[in-house]
Amino acid sequence: MENINESILKNPIYEVRAGVLFFDGCNTVELAQKYGTPLYLMSETEIVRRIDELRKSFVEPYVGKTDCRIVYASKAFCTIAMMNICEREGISVDVVSGGELHTAKAAGFPADRIEFNGNNKTREEIESALLYGVGRFIVDGLSELKIIESVIADNPSITYHPKILFRITPGVTADTHDHLKTAKKDSKFGIPLAEEVFFPQIERAINSELVDYVGLHFHIGSQLFDVKPYLDALEIALEKVREIKERYGFVVSELNVGGGFGACYVDEDRKQFGYFLAPVVEKIIEFYDNVLGTDPPEISIEPGRSIVAEAGATLYTVGQTKDIPGGTKYISVDGGMGDNIRPSLYQAEYFSAIANKMDSPCDDTVTICGKNCESGDILIRNAQLPLASSGDILCTFSTGAYCYSMSSNYNGNLIPAVVLCSDGKDKLIVKRQTNDQLVQNQLPL
Ligand SMILES: *Cc1c(COP(=O)(O)O)cnc(C)c1O
Repeated sequence: MENINESILKNPIYEVRAGVLFFDGCNTVELAQKYGTPLYLMSETEIVRRIDELRKSFVEPYVGKTDCRIVYASKAFCTIAMMNICEREGISVDVVSGGELHTAKAAGFPADRIEFNGNNKTREEIESALLYGVGRFIVDGLSELKIIESVIADNPSITYHPKILFRITPGVTADTHDHLKTAKKDSKFGIPLAEEVFFPQIERAINSELVDYVGLHFHIGSQLFDVKPYLDALEIALEKVREIKERYGFVVSELNVGGGFGACYVDEDRKQFGYFLAPVVEKIIEFYDNVLGTDPPEISIEPGRSIVAEAGATLYTVGQTKDIPGGTKYISVDGGMGDNIRPSLYQAEYFSAIANKMDSPCDDTVTICGKNCESGDILIRNAQLPLASSGDILCTFSTGAYCYSMSSNYNGNLIPAVVLCSDGKDKLIVKRQTNDQLVQNQLPL
């Protein structure tokens, strides 16, 4: 095993049998033959284990003290089968568009457990969410609140009062890639906290007869490993909770502290969920008790990546190899930036292995590139692999989040199939796109 990545493969969903990589009990080389490549694999065992870990560190310890709710941020991996898993596991989901909402609907996901996020929801999206009965809207500002109210006012069939949380911009800077920061002062997300902008919106929401204003939401960024910016953001949010009570006698009854918990892609030292969540929940409970003198609010989190990233892997078939004299040795695979844009988008790093050569020594240093017409279409630089040849199956690890959901048809490449593995059983949950589907919306001149 010394030739393969220890930090990823120590996860029990991986096993090596007779030199072949197994994923959640399934032979990856056989999966590649059965379904073709590129192929996304998802481990149901790992997804459920992650949800379980969250439940054990965030929900169960606080039973009897307050309600803590897990809301899966579906944008990380949004499919009907994932919605089915979330429903079965009893957690909520967060959607950010009419399309994700439609996926939840197609899965028959209970409307009251859906939360609608996003900084520019259209009137049509809001209307279809209200007609479905979506439980909560994370509202990005007064103009959105007004659209929600006007849709309700115009539709006699919408008879409930949706719960509303305002997303705030706490103005903290998370220690992560610039594209993954979402709470800087001049962020496009959330309402600014300047008094003259903040309080009139809160007051308006509290007094609305059409919505049920319940609280505040923040989400400071993604792929975080430090709790400090969380606690800083929380402190700012709690100060607003205090001021809201002081000004309007209104006690915020729900706080949503977002997601962003880091996942392990290469050799990151991933934190346990409790590292982030215990201090956050304790601080909220203590603040409500000591400062407000009331019961704690309902607390929710919105993890995406930390539930699905490590539960995924991608299989490719190796094609051409090119050894530039005095330069780079390239190994080309049959996918690339179309199925994993993250390396090109923000220099994300991945580990890989050759699934059919797991017992061979990794004495080659190569750059793994995709088949797209972009020099930036590089999946991994300086990968340590066994000597690869055409037809080998290359596996990249931790591709469960933001790969399928960010996939594209660039260069007319088809979106790969997704197979859900569970303890030796494999089930197709997304069919491979076809060439006919690629042109089905196109019209001749
Ligand atoms: C993207 C996002 C999340 C999930 O972030 P992860 O890093 O995948 O956990 C949660 N909440 C909001 C508002 C988001 O935009």
